[in-house]
Amino acid sequence: MNDARCDSVHESVNTNELRCVDVAVIGAGISGLAVADQLIRAGLSVSVLEARARLGGRLLGSPLDLGASWFWPGEHRVMALTQRLAVDIFEQYRTGDALIDDIAGVQRYPGNPIDVPAHRIAGGTSALAAALTAQLPSGTLHLQQPVHEITSDRHIATRDYVWQAHHVVIALPPALAVHAITLPPELPPELIDVAARTPVWMGDSVKVVAHFNEPFWRRDGLAGAAMSRRGPLTEVHDMSGPGGEPAALFGFAPAASMHADIEKDIRKQLIRMFGTRASDPIGVLIQDWSREQWTMPPGTQGLPDYAMFGHPRYQQPALEGRLHWSSTETARTYAGHIEGALEAAERTVASIAGSSFITT
Ligand SMILES: Cc1cc2nc3c(=O)[nH]c(=O)nc-3n(C[C@H](O)[C@H](O)[C@H](O)COP(=O)(O)OP(=O)(O)OC[C@H]3O[C@@H](n4cnc5c(N)ncnc54)[C@H](O)[C@@H]3O)c2cc1C
Repeated sequence: MNDARCDSVHESVNTNELRCVDVAVIGAGISGLAVADQLIRAGLSVSVLEARARLGGRLLGSPLDLGASWFWPGEHRVMALTQRLAVDIFEQYRTGDALIDDIAGVQRYPGNPIDVPAHRIAGGTSALAAALTAQLPSGTLHLQQPVHEITSDRHIATRDYVWQAHHVVIALPPALAVHAITLPPELPPELIDVAARTPVWMGDSVKVVAHFNEPFWRRDGLAGAAMSRRGPLTEVHDMSGPGGEPAALFGFAPAASMHADIEKDIRKQLIRMFGTRASDPIGVLIQDWSREQWTMPPGTQGLPDYAMFGHPRYQQPALEGRLHWSSTETARTYAGHIEGALEAAERTVASIAGSSFITT
């Protein structure tokens, strides 16, 4: 590993706390972790600076996923990563009938037109982030270090420290970066505008997981899949682990529908759709992503313009080639998905590896 030499020190930073690396990655979601892993394997020194007390970002929960659950056929980067890290995968359960819940009542729909073939990760998608982190040398990941400033000469200020880096990677949703981080003033206004208008994928969603003793709906010939016009859950899927253990259903609800008694309404809905055996879950977990400070910046709910995903401004590094955008929202393909986060990481790594700013 190379030891980066610090350039001249910015006057506003405390020199006692200055830490120098080739690359500072902001955010320990799957994209930031993938960038760090690949650059470290290429011989660079990397620090990953993470605001939360945990890694994984929008990959959360083990084994019950409170963030991402699936990856789909054709998403070869995720598949390759599971294989390299020897993380077990299994197939989404889809066998049986689906349910439609509307004002006419609950109707059984023969077959399952709701679920598409998808892969799941044993232990939850956060197991992928954990396995990737286990590859990193100790001391790479710095938790509870929210970045609040990046200066023109690439000093990166967190809660406790200042880093200096040859390259800085912004591996968090662009709208959150422009909200929470003071960025170098020479970044083009058009770039800041694009970032501020880029929606945060799933940032205004609520994920609800109902955990049961057994996947009783399977014995009734149900796939666990449902669509509802009555809510609060608008769609439901089987989220059990391999072989039905642990047994769980999950659903999405719009963040705008949340209120103090929402759990009561969700329990009623599950009984309405799946019968009295749904009345006694081991637990109901409610994850409101719109209230997550380190995912969803205030005032960005309902941003409409998904055409901002993968915007050309994100494909070229800024700040003379030294500041890179690497969250799933910046990917040109599969933006929003884990696959997109890995695509963005791949572009970032190629750009840094091809740069003349890395000293050896
Ligand atoms: C409910 C839900 C369901 C989803 N379902 C699926 C699915 O089934 N399949 C799929 O492919 N995708 C799904 N997704 C999307 C998927 O989770 C994301 O594409 C992926 O996790 C994004 O990874 P990322 O690294 O780009 O960003 P993130 O995971 O958001 O990582 C960003 C990291 O930056 C950190 N951070 C933020 N601000 C700062 C700061 N100032 N300083 C330091 N660190 C900071 C955050 O804490 C976080 O760890 C879902 C998402 C949600 C929320």
